[in-house]
Amino acid sequence: MGDKYPQDYEDWSFDTRAVRAGLTPTNESEHSTPIFATSSFLFDSAEQAAARFAGDEPGNIYSRFTNPSVRVFEDRLTALEEGQWCQGTASGMAAVTGLCLSLLQAGDHIVSSRSIFGTISVLFETILPRLGIEVTFADLADLDSWKSAIKPNTKLLFLETPSNPQTAIGEVAALTALAHDNGAWLAVDNCFCTPALQKPFALGADFIVHSATKYLDGQGRCIGGAILGVDPEHEETVRKFVRTTGPTMSPFNAWVFTKGLETLRLRMKAHCENAQKVAEYLAAQPQIAKVFYPGLASHPQHELAKQQQNGFGAIVSFEVDGGREAAWKIINNVKMLSITANLGDTRTTITHPATTTHGRVSEAEKAKAGVTEGLVRIAVGLEEADDIIADLARGLA
Ligand SMILES: *Cc1c(COP(=O)(O)O)cnc(C)c1O
Repeated sequence: MGDKYPQDYEDWSFDTRAVRAGLTPTNESEHSTPIFATSSFLFDSAEQAAARFAGDEPGNIYSRFTNPSVRVFEDRLTALEEGQWCQGTASGMAAVTGLCLSLLQAGDHIVSSRSIFGTISVLFETILPRLGIEVTFADLADLDSWKSAIKPNTKLLFLETPSNPQTAIGEVAALTALAHDNGAWLAVDNCFCTPALQKPFALGADFIVHSATKYLDGQGRCIGGAILGVDPEHEETVRKFVRTTGPTMSPFNAWVFTKGLETLRLRMKAHCENAQKVAEYLAAQPQIAKVFYPGLASHPQHELAKQQQNGFGAIVSFEVDGGREAAWKIINNVKMLSITANLGDTRTTITHPATTTHGRVSEAEKAKAGVTEGLVRIAVGLEEADDIIADLARGLA
């Protein structure tokens, strides 16, 4: 590694880290990072092979363990999140599953926010209990409900903030203190804010998980995820788990995500600006009963969001009178917005949570999460804000 590629990124600001951290050039003088499409790596000798396998000599062996393209992504995301290590994974779900299964064992207990990504709920409600790991759900914004859910065997507190689709805010510093007072860890799914808007490690979190599929790529191309931490002992445990069980990130996807990180802050800033305009427009429409967006002064946790985040994100949801019929009518009447449950794309998406992302959630849990029949969720993209608003006006007409 020459002087042209200094890796002591401590002194670099976020934007410089985003475009330069993690570069490990080969002897080919390439400027952009290459894709190492190779399953295995050569050794100079039998002795070297033995030393690599024994762990006596650092270096690549096989891409299920390490791959230089994946390493660039991991090092860059570590620099952006201000953590100590990062393990790339095949998906966001592989990151959450990997975190739980590498750290926990039968007899352990998790307290999780009730308002989490639907598939994580399925993991927590059906798969982990089968392995003897119990989960209790708490209300993200209600510290007392977390306190009363904690048990002597609680090992992990898990949350995502702002929540989806209700945009409730979890107070990361207070929940970290609660976790640590009870001998547990705190993990934050930082998918919606990304490190451009929120730094969970600076607030005390022990782990961050990502679905890189969303804003880290930001362009709707690849599935991937990441587990990040600060403790070297946890790094060993998590890497060993992923290497052994195999939910590894592909080098091609890692390359796409690395490129995505280069524009992350600029994209998030533009997402936030558009979302603010869309939320303000919706709040002024008489047929809309309620708009959920942390950037509105009417949001109950607007002040906390301002304090904890560096921007309010791109998820806006709203409730219309008239239930499912009225909500579906809006979704069917827009022409430009994409009807899809995905988010974190350049294109604005619109969805009806009650019958899509939360379709398999019980009525009682839906009610607790505020997912009503009249609720519509928009993940605001990077089109011109006026065009998004004009399309919504068509939907509401
Ligand atoms: C999409 C998503 C996940 C799961 O990520 P995949 O890449 O789809 O496996 C986890 N958490 C949040 C908040 C998500 O939006």
